[in-house]
Amino acid sequence: MPLVSCRACKHQVDTSAEACPRCGATDPAKKISRQQREFRSFIVQTVLWIALLGTAAWYGWNVGIPMLRQLLNKPAAVEQTQTEK
Ligand SMILES: [Zn+2]
Repeated sequence: MPLVSCRACKHQVDTSAEACPRCGATDPAKKISRQQREFRSFIVQTVLWIALLGTAAWYGWNVGIPMLRQLLNKPAAVEQTQTEK
């Protein structure tokens, strides 16, 4: 169990302690846990953005490019069908 200094009295307190055993301050390691929470939310946001961008890239590659090709090939396809007739 890692120890941190209490935000109130700087006494060494376990990070999981709900109150400082010396001064009784609640959440003596709150500063650390908030940083950890922020870091965790940052990781979650990064993962979400990567997933979103990955999905967008996948969608663009598998749907956008064939659609563009279809649009670009359309006049040629029309010409082909016209010459075939
Ligand atoms: Zn304390």
